[in-house]
Amino acid sequence: MKPNFWIKICSKCFLCKYVRTSKDKTKLKYKVFNKIKLFCPICRAANYSLKKIETTHKIDFEQRYKIEIIKKTDINVVQNIKETNKKILQLLHKNHNRPSTISYYEEILTSSLRLDELKETKRNGKKIIGTFCIFVPEELIYACGAIPVRLCAGSYDTISYAEEVLPRDICPLIKSSFGFKILGLSYFELCDLVIIPTTCDGKKKLAEILNDMMPVWILELPNRKNLTKAKTFWLEEIRTLKEKLEKFTKIKITKENLKQAIKLLHQRQMIFRKLYQLKKTYPLLLNERDTLLIIQASFYDDIKRWIEKTNQLYNEVYSLTLDSKHLNSKFSTQNITTQPIKLLLTGAPIIWPNYKILNIIETTQATIVADELCSGVRSLYDTTEVDDWSTEGCLRALAYKYLLPSTCPCFTESNDRIDKLLQSIKDFSVDAVIYHSLRLCQLYDIEFYKIKTVLKNYGIPILKLHTDYSPEDTEQLKTRIEAFIEMLKNKNQLK
Ligand code: SF4
Ligand code: SF4
Repeated sequence: MKPNFWIKICSKCFLCKYVRTSKDKTKLKYKVFNKIKLFCPICRAANYSLKKIETTHKIDFEQRYKIEIIKKTDINVVQNIKETNKKILQLLHKNHNRPSTISYYEEILTSSLRLDELKETKRNGKKIIGTFCIFVPEELIYACGAIPVRLCAGSYDTISYAEEVLPRDICPLIKSSFGFKILGLSYFELCDLVIIPTTCDGKKKLAEILNDMMPVWILELPNRKNLTKAKTFWLEEIRTLKEKLEKFTKIKITKENLKQAIKLLHQRQMIFRKLYQLKKTYPLLLNERDTLLIIQASFYDDIKRWIEKTNQLYNEVYSLTLDSKHLNSKFSTQNITTQPIKLLLTGAPIIWPNYKILNIIETTQATIVADELCSGVRSLYDTTEVDDWSTEGCLRALAYKYLLPSTCPCFTESNDRIDKLLQSIKDFSVDAVIYHSLRLCQLYDIEFYKIKTVLKNYGIPILKLHTDYSPEDTEQLKTRIEAFIEMLKNKNQLK
């Protein structure tokens, strides 16, 4: 990048050089020169140009070697996706006593209702912004009148198309998501741009490849989230994102609309928390597949409608608890008749319709009472704590909310994740942990050893399921899960 005219002059100016290189900042000469710099129009112009260069460099990809990625068309794939959705729904419907409101979330995930709505919204001039992972502050997107949709996908049917561009040996989530883009399907195709945080190697390189097909912005994530310099760096990323969104949507993010967006998301988090808390007392009230359906519908749905429906759902399930306070099994959504084995699910994201391991677990005498998944509870749980409602105060609160509580394995230390797991095990009286590891996600794979060892010291059994999106290993997984549950049942009987 060539430094522009003002930067060149500034770099040669003796006064600026002195301020830059001076070691003793208490000297009068330094103080006077520094003051002069504040008012110097050349310095101001140079600073402005520097900021502009930095911002452009930080956000936009250079496209020096842009390649053409040819899109695929296959009418069968749409049919296959529909068939898979139908099959998973049929498995869900085998469970009785599911709350009636749950059909709404099924509709969002399987019908074209939301897609059609978004197409219409887009025609009316609104921007649709795709996101990956859980680090992109949706509040900023809503505050500038755009709509966020999370693009992390769980469909096996799109993977083979992605493998024509991406290597086979990367995580299925990345391939599945990219497959939707290659095929020009679903929400991906509606997005005006995509924001990708640099969480893992796969995501970083996905960003570069995708950038040849559509606008992509990167959110640089620090590796050690608890360091002061990491927080400062991340806050700067969030500020830059705000500016970039304002330019893109041509809507200024004011203090007022940011506040409204934070409050809206707060409502979403609070109703979800209330629902989730019920599971502490009534572990059979909602099974994990339904819990994930509810959460994952929020990735795409109109946020206000989702809040309204989830309030309805809460009232519906809460009324069940009033009827059958002492008999969990009466309103079990899982056909469990005896005291269930309570499990906590952690690890790599499980995303609709890849409910393979849940379909197995939830036909045993075990129930998943809590999860620690970025596609599950983690995506809706944390709230933004604002103590200063100025724009800067809101940005700081948002930056910290998206960084500090995160237990993603992309950070160097796993201590926060272990703390969170131990806390949930205690809060939900968990008997054992299921560790979902996606093939070729090294981050989760590597963290397993430490987590297993710590949990063992606490006497908590853990089962690691190393799998991907293909249905091929279903029988093998079934055997392992059933043996594990059987072992837990025997252990409980001996108590
Ligand atoms: S767990 Fe992995 S996929 Fe999920 S949000 Fe974190 S980095 Fe992204
Ligand atoms: S599951 Fe692992 S490899 Fe895949 S996107 Fe998430 S962090 Fe990256």
